[in-house]
Amino acid sequence: MRTVDLRLDPEVIVPIEPAGALAGHALVVDRGSIVAVVLTEVAERDYAPRTHVALPGKVLLPGLVNAHTHAAMTLFRGIADDVPLKVWLEREIWPREGKHVGPEFVYDGARLAAVEMLKGGTTCFHDMYFYPDATAKACLETGIRAVLGLPVLDFPTSYASDPDQYLSVGLAVRDAYKASPRLAFTLAPHAPYTVGDATFDKIVMFARQLDLPITTHVSESAVEVAASIEQYGITPLARLHKLGVTGPGFIGVHGVHLSSSDIELLATHGGHIVHCPVSNMKLGSGIAPIPALLAHGVNVAIGTDGAASNNRQDGWSEMRIAALLAKVGSGDPAVWPAQKVLESATLGGARALGLDARVGSLVPGKSADMVAVDLAATSSLPCYDPLSHLVHVAGRESVTDVWIDGERVVEDRRLLNVAEADIAARARAWQERLR
Ligand SMILES: [Zn+2]
Repeated sequence: MRTVDLRLDPEVIVPIEPAGALAGHALVVDRGSIVAVVLTEVAERDYAPRTHVALPGKVLLPGLVNAHTHAAMTLFRGIADDVPLKVWLEREIWPREGKHVGPEFVYDGARLAAVEMLKGGTTCFHDMYFYPDATAKACLETGIRAVLGLPVLDFPTSYASDPDQYLSVGLAVRDAYKASPRLAFTLAPHAPYTVGDATFDKIVMFARQLDLPITTHVSESAVEVAASIEQYGITPLARLHKLGVTGPGFIGVHGVHLSSSDIELLATHGGHIVHCPVSNMKLGSGIAPIPALLAHGVNVAIGTDGAASNNRQDGWSEMRIAALLAKVGSGDPAVWPAQKVLESATLGGARALGLDARVGSLVPGKSADMVAVDLAATSSLPCYDPLSHLVHVAGRESVTDVWIDGERVVEDRRLLNVAEADIAARARAWQERLR
């Protein structure tokens, strides 16, 4: 009999690997890692847990991975909806960013987003925003796992004045936090239309030297693709490929207007697409060709994008809308089944971020990043297929408990690491300042 830290007995385990749902099983954790997913009687016989948590009526699954967001922008949630993007940016956001965005804004905004994500069952997110050191602090404090994109632009902001400074400031943040087990980093040029070839060359050099993935928004709108063809004679993705950006460490965000040759290029050279369906719908960008990407074997992750274009940092509504949008876009209700959508929202995100050896599924050896979802509420009954329920019935309000590295960070819908009231008070203070 082996003494271990934790044993969980949910009604059902959805480990993602292998696909499907396991009833009558227990999950065993020791020193932050999953030790076993075994029949309850085997767990009873082989393990003596220091903590034993029964989870009747609940499904245990890997925490969701939000593969693209701008966490601090949560402070802009709903500040000016239903206006064209150009007006929203030029009249509402840029002036406020210029005036207010600094370490304090980013820290408070990232803590607010982390609270929303953790309570909603997202255990890991991939960020792209200024002052990633402030986001890092917010993550360490709240306990959420994060991959922080180090932003790069060709034009100056309060954060950095030129591409070299963006890179040097960002890489200094990475140096300061690279020993933190819950933090990792990517290089995050904003988009092919805001970053020129010379800057991409530098980014590719650092990516190769430091073994860092590269993430960028790409082919989000038809206008962006048309402008690239006019200026460079090729699509944005083809240009990134020419510059050496694509490959297994490439994380393209949106990809709404990828051409068939773009998709083949991703399939041949590796590279991941983060699908942000709500953002694409809210901005009227279009429907990303997810079925074609999946058919070509391209890894698809799911992201919320920031409060600019999605007022919720909610992995559950994102999954459901992703599933429905694929059906309506293709005319085929079978095109992206619930199990596969769940896989994209967990393991697909982990693969995109290069974290799939550590998170994304409940298999022995991986970090114990897990969420318990209550499917016993009357609004969830009856439940014939937990996998379908997780995508089409459950919402973030169904999430009751969350563990990261085996540490419980949400218990019975309450955050354990941080005082939520303080974070809410800061958000209200910003509301007054930003109004
Ligand atoms: Zn974005």
